[in-house]
Amino acid sequence: MTVAGTGARVALVTGASRGIGRAVAHALAAAGMAVAVNYRAREQDAAAVVQSIRGGGGRAVAIAADVADSAQVADMAAGAARELGPVDVLVNNAGIASQRGLDDLDEAEFNRMLAANLTSAFLCTQAVLPHMRAQRWGRIVNISSIAARGAGAIGVHYNAAKAGMEGLTRGYAARLAADCITVNAVAPGPIDTDMGAPLKQAGAASRVPVGRMGTAEEVAQAVMMVIGNPFITGQTIAVNGGLLFT
Ligand code: NAP
Repeated sequence: MTVAGTGARVALVTGASRGIGRAVAHALAAAGMAVAVNYRAREQDAAAVVQSIRGGGGRAVAIAADVADSAQVADMAAGAARELGPVDVLVNNAGIASQRGLDDLDEAEFNRMLAANLTSAFLCTQAVLPHMRAQRWGRIVNISSIAARGAGAIGVHYNAAKAGMEGLTRGYAARLAADCITVNAVAPGPIDTDMGAPLKQAGAASRVPVGRMGTAEEVAQAVMMVIGNPFITGQTIAVNGGLLFT
């Protein structure tokens, strides 16, 4: 698949060792982009993604970094630029989903969730913006969740992080439109990945109007759609099988 105007670009996908991030990395590579595959711990999984992209004739590199840590994010952006070129397309996908009820959510876990799912998107965006602004072209996609607007199954800390991510999306979009940088969010419902496994076990598929969980590739397709369209910015694209209409 080719996406207009994005052929020779460099993309950075956070949390691309598995799940949705991996599917996005493959889709970007299939569109001709060089891809920096970020991961936190699963080095072998990230290496397999890189190997698969290279095997198909693409360019890719794996970069370890905890995206909640500003120094590691700075090193990651520098590493991607050194290996592939400065980042033109950023997909803030890395995230965690520790399930907590109202009575077992403490301040430490609340802060950990916000750091991994929200502060991370801010840090990565700030790290790549100077190049995007200088060249007056860029694409940023934030992987939110149906939980930004609905209750979801994870907890209020996850609700808050994902709602914050959508605020971040609109705030950046408004300030960057004149620089030809679009910023959008994609909000999946239950997706069949490692993170989605507990939802699967709890019978999530039966609650989705289309009768099944989504696939990582279906989320990646929405990511590619917004990357390919310069007139869509500040939006949240829902990919949830009809579970929530927003
Ligand atoms: P997943 O299968 O659990 O994969 C998570 C990815 O994020 C892994 O690559 C992991 O790296 C990476 N990661 C986690 N914390 C990180 C950190 N601090 N720094 C760098 N990388 C980190 O999750 P997924 O289902 O693909 O979810 C991806 C995104 O979609 C998340 O933002 C999630 O909130 C969102 N989402 C998922 C669902 C769903 O049902 N699956 C629904 C709505 C939204 P390692 O492999 O190295 O650990």
